Amino acid sequence: MKHPEDQRAYKDPVCGMEISRKTALEEFVYRGKAYYFCAPACRQTFEGNPEQYIRTHRQHGLRQG
Ligand SMILES: [Zn+2]
Repeated sequence: MKHPEDQRAYKDPVCGMEISRKTALEEFVYRGKAYYFCAPACRQTFEGNPEQYIRTHRQHGLRQG
């Protein structure tokens, strides 16, 4: 299947919803990487604490439950 458009799925790091660049309403670049969001509210949440949602590094002392 060939698609001329970029239809890769991006994951909204805040709510976990899968979106494409076409359907994404918000974009935010953090540390040189673009993140896409389904809604302005999600972007704002991400902006407030990006590290919490990226989770590229596991931090010690992070407890869940
Ligand atoms: Zn979202």
